[in-house]
Amino acid sequence: MKNMSNLIIMGPPGAGKGTQSERIVQELNIPHISTGDMFREQIKNGTELGKEVARYINQGQLVPDDVTIAIVKERLSRSDCSKGYLLDGFPRTLAQADALRKLTEEIHRPVQCALNISVDKDALIERISGRRVCPKCGNSYHVIFKKPRVENICDTCGSDLVQRKDDTPESLKVRLDAYENQTKPLIDFYKKEKILFEIDGLQNIDKVFEDILVILKGETK
Ligand code: ADP
Ligand code: AMP
Repeated sequence: MKNMSNLIIMGPPGAGKGTQSERIVQELNIPHISTGDMFREQIKNGTELGKEVARYINQGQLVPDDVTIAIVKERLSRSDCSKGYLLDGFPRTLAQADALRKLTEEIHRPVQCALNISVDKDALIERISGRRVCPKCGNSYHVIFKKPRVENICDTCGSDLVQRKDDTPESLKVRLDAYENQTKPLIDFYKKEKILFEIDGLQNIDKVFEDILVILKGETK
């Protein structure tokens, strides 16, 4: 199918979902719905929801399904999703995938494509430990693979870059376990639906994006 625009992007923490999502939404002009970003925004703003989810996120645990499904339900109901959406980091459990099926039926936009980015554990550790983010505008960098123009300064807004609180070795271990036990089964879920597309995430950022475009637009290499 060509020009798919109801999309999800999956993969372990640090696989490059956010990095590729930025480019995909620019190319297709659809909203980027990252549950991780939405939770971090709530934490930054000190909301009740932010207070509720912070302890899970900082320890690397998944936020409970009911809370997560509720924020996605609200977000998908907004008018900008009428032209499509890219869900990044959702669903992460089978219960979330079931809920998503219902939610996307309600808005008459069933998921057309689940991009699965595969990266081995050593590379994930290297990517997570070198990730730096801008606390103000949310841009993401890497100390080796995606350097800002000036060391440790955000290209866009000039703020000092920081490490995410959950990008610690302890939290990463919990997150990788959650991925193995709760999220990995979704690969089979979407395989059965015949909408799973595998991406070799070990390639450089440009090459990964090229492969994604081939899938999304039906372009030949
Ligand atoms: P995720 O959203 O899956 O957790 P990110 O997109 O934040 O992952 O990427 C994790 C880190 O790895 C970031 O610092 C990013 O700059 C870097 N990165 C992303 N894709 C690649 C790649 N293909 N090669 C090398 N580094 C990458
Ligand atoms: P991410 O930015 O995708 O790495 O997500 C950061 C953290 O937010 C995760 O480690 C979880 O604690 C939480 N989170 C994000 N998305 C979900 C989800 N779909 N289900 C449960 N927790 C989530």
